[in-house]
Amino acid sequence: MSADPSTLAGRLAAVRARIAACREAGRDPAEVTLLPVSKTFGADVVREAVLLGERRFGENKVQEIQAKATELKAEAIDWVVIGHLQTNKAKAVATYAAEVQSLDRLDLAVALDKALQAQGRGIDVLVQLKTSTEDTKSGLAPSSLPGFLHELKAFSSLRVRGLMTLAEASDDEAVVRRCFADLRHWRDRARDEGHDVQRLSMGMSGDFALAIAEGSTEVRIGNAIFGARN
Ligand SMILES: *Cc1c(COP(=O)(O)O)cnc(C)c1O
Repeated sequence: MSADPSTLAGRLAAVRARIAACREAGRDPAEVTLLPVSKTFGADVVREAVLLGERRFGENKVQEIQAKATELKAEAIDWVVIGHLQTNKAKAVATYAAEVQSLDRLDLAVALDKALQAQGRGIDVLVQLKTSTEDTKSGLAPSSLPGFLHELKAFSSLRVRGLMTLAEASDDEAVVRRCFADLRHWRDRARDEGHDVQRLSMGMSGDFALAIAEGSTEVRIGNAIFGARN
């Protein structure tokens, strides 16, 4: 039975089926988590996805998390920050977010830790690496990762769990795959150096099959689930 692409339920089922199909690429589907990315879609749409079994959602703006978290208080959703963060948003992150995947610099770690300590909380974080060449994409330079992971040990409220990246926007599969392979390489190296970093958040609507083939443990999917954004 093919899922109806005109409904959220149908698109979500189709994405889940494509993740399950990663068995063919030699991956265990149980090791690949889906993070639905609900940015720009309203609380009503998120509620529908909750009814379909999702309870973690990725957003790239903290203000949007704050608005939706307030409206969806009863749903006990884990909000995940995946967009570039300014340090002046640290307090809102500490209040509303369950996790940050876009940690890319020391001053942000300092601000987040301070805000989290003030609230007596800790959160999981992923370090975002810049594996592409585009100026518009943020992320830490990969060669700075070993030093950065060492510095992050000073922040007890930040539990570093892995790495995140956005691949180059390219039609050339080899170029896209190289970004994902790079992230895995830096994760493996950090693990070898004794860091507890297992997770690889990589792959979006247009490239998640390649990301899974390269070892992704978490795909961040917006369009393919929620439809086109305005
Ligand atoms: C928007 C966004 C996604 C999802 O992108 P789609 O192409 O809609 O699947 C994933 N990761 C980040 C960091 C994003 O900002």
